[in-house]
Amino acid sequence: MKYNSTTDKNIVVSAAQAISQGISKDGGLFVPMEIPKYSDDDFKSFLKLDYKGRAKKVIADFLTDFTAEEIADCVDNAYTQEKFGSENPAPIVTCALNGSSMNILELWHGPTSAFKDMALQILPHFLTKSLNKTYKDKEAVILVATSGDTGKAALEGFRDVKGTKIIVFYPQDGVSPMQKCQMTTQLGDNVEVCAIKGNFDDAQTGVKNIFTTPEIAKKLEDNNKLFSSANSINWGRLLPQIVYYISAYCDLVNDGRVVFGQEINVVVPTGNFGNILAAYYASLMGLPVKKFICASNSNNVLTDFINTGVYDKSRQFYTTISPSMDILVSSNLERLLYILSDGDDKKVKAYMTQLKTAGKYTVDDNIMNKLSDKFYGGFCDDNTTQNTIAGLYKESNYLSDTHTAVAVSVYNQYVEKTGDKTPTVLASTASPYKFSKSVLQAVAPEDKLPDNEFAMVEELNKITGVDVPKPLSMLKNMTVRFDDVTAVENMPSYVLGKLGIK
Ligand SMILES: *Cc1c(COP(=O)(O)O)cnc(C)c1O
Repeated sequence: MKYNSTTDKNIVVSAAQAISQGISKDGGLFVPMEIPKYSDDDFKSFLKLDYKGRAKKVIADFLTDFTAEEIADCVDNAYTQEKFGSENPAPIVTCALNGSSMNILELWHGPTSAFKDMALQILPHFLTKSLNKTYKDKEAVILVATSGDTGKAALEGFRDVKGTKIIVFYPQDGVSPMQKCQMTTQLGDNVEVCAIKGNFDDAQTGVKNIFTTPEIAKKLEDNNKLFSSANSINWGRLLPQIVYYISAYCDLVNDGRVVFGQEINVVVPTGNFGNILAAYYASLMGLPVKKFICASNSNNVLTDFINTGVYDKSRQFYTTISPSMDILVSSNLERLLYILSDGDDKKVKAYMTQLKTAGKYTVDDNIMNKLSDKFYGGFCDDNTTQNTIAGLYKESNYLSDTHTAVAVSVYNQYVEKTGDKTPTVLASTASPYKFSKSVLQAVAPEDKLPDNEFAMVEELNKITGVDVPKPLSMLKNMTVRFDDVTAVENMPSYVLGKLGIK
């Protein structure tokens, strides 16, 4: 299986190269040149496997330059009971929602309490093996832009991984206190964390610019290093996410909640469009999905795009209580455009150029028709998010985080509008304790708010009895190691400085 750039089909690489480089030299994203298709018999064989078994099968079909032993090694070391608290890292919880029953796919039982662990616990294994195949003896410098959760998950995944160094940039005022604390106290000898004076989009653009500046790449090469990415622009991030949708379907069939072959809907709280795109890839492989419900917060650029075919990033940016979705440039949409245009690299390139120069693009009718056939877009504001958390807690005693609540709210809108009662899987992307203040205000609006983050965690735990993930409660006693702040335009010199390169 080979991969090519979304914006230039002549750039063709192996899986190992795609993962090592993270992004194509022309600025495009790597996409698989063909997509494996599973028959009913394939799916039936998945039913009998556990999560790791399913993961090994799916990953092997995409990483064809890896041996079976290498893939087994990646999977077995990533999804351990020790790290995810159970043999199934992505359990489904059913809860009552508006009188019917909802399947909540909890993706946040990993070490950093957000769904990013599902990919970032395995990516370092993919990457070190990829480097070994393609760029032996080079040090990989992982640059990360984070809206809060990717940063910590990447730091935890790559900490002290031989042959790698990781530098994380986060928006100074754009992450939750818990997210910030998780990053600034990070352990490991190969890690750097820096705030930037700007929002997530600035951080992401800054990182992408560093990646695609030839002079910087040359300097790294002269020093026997190479940049790579742990953002969802890296194929190695998306691939592990395909697995949990296929696995969730198998679990639902095994539990008798869905009949084999029956269609499901999928609801995903969306920012950079990675998670929902993974679900879409799963459907292209044969998973029967009727609708992909794309849920946004007030930064509703994707809602507008799905409803009108116009992607327009020039709009007010809101800092919300679901900060991991405070994004106006959803980078993985580029991969969806590539698929929906039947692999028209020139068209994708034209859209991406328009986005850069004019701040917007409008897709053609062909893409628009396919988009509206499969995707539903909706959004909700902070107030509705908190009401949703409160309602869900009251109705079903289920405590959700702010991002998951956005998905629940948009799903409610969808059902109200369409009456569609197809069985549904809703991706729950973070522990409520990562956003304790907003969640606490939602479930106990009359209470006086404690004055610090950890007191809020304790209060929320006292009121709800929901367990606090250990890695979060432990942060309280950890020392802050990183307090750097830099301007966006200084990101390149910051990186070179940290690498000791002039
Ligand atoms: C990253 C993140 C999202 C958005 O996921 P994308 O793959 O970027 O669309 C949603 N919720 C949480 C908690 C996240 O950390």
